[in-house]
Amino acid sequence: MSNAPATAKQIILKTVSEIEIMRRANQIVGGALNMLREKAAAGVSTWELDRWAEEFARQHGAEPAFKGYHGFPGSLCVSLNEQVVHGIPSQKVILEEGDILSIDFGVRYKGFYGDAAVTLAIGEIDAPKAKLMQITRESLYKGIEQAKVGNRINDISAAVQDHVEKHGYSVVKQFVGHGIGTALHEGPEVPNYSIGKKRTPRIMAGMVLAIEPMVNLGTFEVKVLKDGWTVITKDKSPSAHFEHSVAVTEEGPVILSDNIQ
Ligand code: MG
Repeated sequence: MSNAPATAKQIILKTVSEIEIMRRANQIVGGALNMLREKAAAGVSTWELDRWAEEFARQHGAEPAFKGYHGFPGSLCVSLNEQVVHGIPSQKVILEEGDILSIDFGVRYKGFYGDAAVTLAIGEIDAPKAKLMQITRESLYKGIEQAKVGNRINDISAAVQDHVEKHGYSVVKQFVGHGIGTALHEGPEVPNYSIGKKRTPRIMAGMVLAIEPMVNLGTFEVKVLKDGWTVITKDKSPSAHFEHSVAVTEEGPVILSDNIQ
């Protein structure tokens, strides 16, 4: 789940054993997303996906993290086509062939959070949507490569933005990635666009970052629907979202949700 920047949140470094718990939390998230990939098909409602995700978390000893978070009504964020992030699961929203669906899931496990997202193709999708998904996913990995000691957060942001804009797409600016730990959203913020290197913190070993490019086929502008949650592109162009939780170690970035297919 992405963060709407408000007040600055604290950066809290994690120990090796805390990162190990967070790895487990994120592997549960990844397992749930893999299960949903198998089940998400034309005719299935986003509410059913939500139920399956929550059940999966509880079967693995975790709690769904998004349910009730600032009042979010679901366990899973389900964002279809022009929806960017934070879509609310509904029995009335039935997946159709040709849709792209972003699913974002989080759990709390032994006091720590896991958070990751993927965008799925429902059946056969058109080439522009497929390319959008591919470039968004690639931009996530470009960002992760920069999550190393000695860099600044802006190195992650700039790497994501460069890759996205090189292909003619735009990054969402209104929502950002974030630190994660015993809170779902900790500092630092991890924007998907450059705000200037000096303005962002140095990356340190023990940081755990949820890096999450949200990429629009059209313009970067988004708006929030009247439900107070669902973010859509202003021009109604499709949007994609991929997210991993990543631990920074002296040896480099370690993707905690690396079981995602
Ligand atoms: Mg997140």
